[in-house]
Amino acid sequence: MAEYYNTRVPGEALYDLVEPIQIRKITPIEQKRFLSLLNNEATNEELIKFINQLIIGVDPTKLYWPDYYYILYQLRLTSYKMIPLNMHFKCPECGEHNKIEIDITKLKVDDIPETYTRDTKINLENFGEVPIRYKQVGDDIACDMFMKQRRLDEKDDNLKILVYDLLLLSNWKPLNELWALAENGDITVQDIALIEKFIDDNTWGVREEYTYVCRHCNKEVSNPFAVRLDDFFPSNFS
Ligand SMILES: [Zn+2]
Repeated sequence: MAEYYNTRVPGEALYDLVEPIQIRKITPIEQKRFLSLLNNEATNEELIKFINQLIIGVDPTKLYWPDYYYILYQLRLTSYKMIPLNMHFKCPECGEHNKIEIDITKLKVDDIPETYTRDTKINLENFGEVPIRYKQVGDDIACDMFMKQRRLDEKDDNLKILVYDLLLLSNWKPLNELWALAENGDITVQDIALIEKFIDDNTWGVREEYTYVCRHCNKEVSNPFAVRLDDFFPSNFS
């Protein structure tokens, strides 16, 4: 039977939780279905909907991305706790390859930055202080929908990043209005640069970087890796 586990996300203070967030193990059938979704380039909405079946206690579209990744990490731990994560890292010092077995129970988790609260504001060139928030899961769905509605080229990653940036101001104004302000330059390029700096300065959760000693040059080095999707829910462990 499906057994649920309580989990505490690092950004817990940002939510109005009525009960603890709970997750359960992925079943073998779900795991295969998940891999099929990934192989078939499923939309954000399909992937999120899929993972949401495993979570209760919070509207997952309202989760901030670092907390969502933290939950994925917890799902990985509860579903495959005996199995290490095998990664092939290219050493940034000597360029040689290292096969690294990561003990996933030992990954570092960063707390939410003290500077980031529910009342964080950003100072826009023409509007002064307005509320800003970190990226939420629902932003991916909202971005896809908006680009489709506006017939924007969904393969244009720069434009997509702009839509994401604007979505962080959506506690101030709806996306349609924000887009219009960006179109006529009332929201300025400097504002966008500040929003992108805000994202860089405020992140938390599972640290997506692994430090190890390269077996070729013996130096201590770090490589980035993603706490998500196919690396994280593999079907084999070679
Ligand atoms: Zn090396």
